[in-house]
Amino acid sequence: MTTNASSLPAKIGKVYLVGAGPGDPGLITLRGKYLLEHAEVVVYDYLANPKLLGYVPKDAQLIYAGKKGGGLHAFTQEGINRLLVDHAKQGKMVVRLKGGDPFIFGRGAEEIEELVTEGIDFEVVPGVTSATAAATYAGIPITHREYTASVAFVTGHEDPTKKFSNISWDKLATGAGTIVVYMGIKTLPSITRKLIDHGRSPDTPVAVVRWASTPQQRSVVGTLATICEVVQQADIKPPALIIVGEVVKLRSTIDWFEKRPLFGRRIVVTRTREQASDLVAQLEEQGAEVLEYSTIHIEPMDDCGIVDAAIAEIGSYQWLLFTSINAVTHFFRRLFALGHDSRLLAGIKIAVVGRATADEVGKYGVKPDLLPEKFTGEGLAEALLQTGVQGSRILLPRALRASELLPEMLTDAGAQVTIAPVYRNVPPPGPKEELRDQLLEGSIDLVTFTSSSTVTNFLALIDAAGDDELHRLLDRTTIAAIGPITAETIRTHGLAVDIQPERYTIDDMVQAIVAHYRNLAPQAG
Ligand code: SAH
Repeated sequence: MTTNASSLPAKIGKVYLVGAGPGDPGLITLRGKYLLEHAEVVVYDYLANPKLLGYVPKDAQLIYAGKKGGGLHAFTQEGINRLLVDHAKQGKMVVRLKGGDPFIFGRGAEEIEELVTEGIDFEVVPGVTSATAAATYAGIPITHREYTASVAFVTGHEDPTKKFSNISWDKLATGAGTIVVYMGIKTLPSITRKLIDHGRSPDTPVAVVRWASTPQQRSVVGTLATICEVVQQADIKPPALIIVGEVVKLRSTIDWFEKRPLFGRRIVVTRTREQASDLVAQLEEQGAEVLEYSTIHIEPMDDCGIVDAAIAEIGSYQWLLFTSINAVTHFFRRLFALGHDSRLLAGIKIAVVGRATADEVGKYGVKPDLLPEKFTGEGLAEALLQTGVQGSRILLPRALRASELLPEMLTDAGAQVTIAPVYRNVPPPGPKEELRDQLLEGSIDLVTFTSSSTVTNFLALIDAAGDDELHRLLDRTTIAAIGPITAETIRTHGLAVDIQPERYTIDDMVQAIVAHYRNLAPQAG
């Protein structure tokens, strides 16, 4: 990039047309991710996975451009073009995020032409187009030496105002080995008829793939002669792709995505701070659709008086204790807010409850003096007692409400403990109703519990009025518990435990879940 500071206004906007990939958020390019991370405005489509918006800075403006060609809150193409131009003219870094590849049936060029007319700088980042993703994720190689050496990408939805078709179906029918049709579900009967009429065998295999590369993917297979009926029977709706050609036969050998053991299973994970992401990743790896519910939402304290006062006289303390990652983050936030840095802690010994907390402290350039053998509050208290804490002043920044065991044990041993609340847990503005609805309609296959507190948190989240409602909510859902204590907590609420591994680790729990579904009869559909 060249800079020419003298001739440029303060800030020049630019529009990045970015391909979001077909659905799986893992299929965006590194360049696309980088641009999202630096965006000031993001204009996105319904085909771009909303999970990708997680990369966007918190203060960026997100604009949903809606479903192309209709929908209640949709922008017209002119409206979208104007949005891009206006924001870029305000000097903003604008990402226009489009499903698949922006230049494959994405009207990307129309948006660019408008930018060129208005003299706005732009860049285009390609994406994995849904045609190749749908084929790959349905176990179909779109080319194969023995079957075909050519592929055609075709739209099934030509501009309806056009008088003559741009597609030479007569040449295409036998001219391309594999034909992939975008936006063709509504016109499938006329597409198959045109291909057969122009000489393609009615026995040619055809696959139709909906929501490719997502946990909702569905594929059906037929022939040019039968596929319309198959699609109708299976009630396949857009967005879907039609793949025509001999290569479709290979699906019977190569199908991998839909064969993963937990594919098509919808699983609820109630988050605890430490373990949920590992569990979520492992379940997703096995093909599950995971709904993560957080019952813990952390906020800094409005009143930081106690910790601020303690920091002001930090030299009078012998020990500083951290019993959670959040305590570390929020303590240092105050330290920095008061104009200090980590050197202020030079003379004070630091103890942490466990390895994760030690790592967090390490991020501030500080190495803890004490890490207990047992990673619990009690373990920490015992380790401290061994050092002889009588008469010591101990600072404990922590959550507003937390177990009193650690400070009590220390006080009993003659230490002087200052409890300084630095954050608090508040109920998240959660989608409780949505979870209840899904449970009631039976669309959640499994709920997992990795500790007794996840059970209590989950029950608080669904907020059943009495046992009858609790059973109505959960009777159609399988329940997995990580170990005996968690299972006992579940049973005390009158619920049955269906899956419980022998050893209580996340790995074993995931294996037990996989084994459970392997033993069930294959799913219908
Ligand atoms: N630019 C996009 C295509 C936009 S046209 C791309 O490169 O993929 C919209 C059509 O794309 C849909 O009607 C459907 O046919 C197809 N499509 C997009 N995402 C899809 C997906 N995840 N699964 C199946 N079809 C998809």
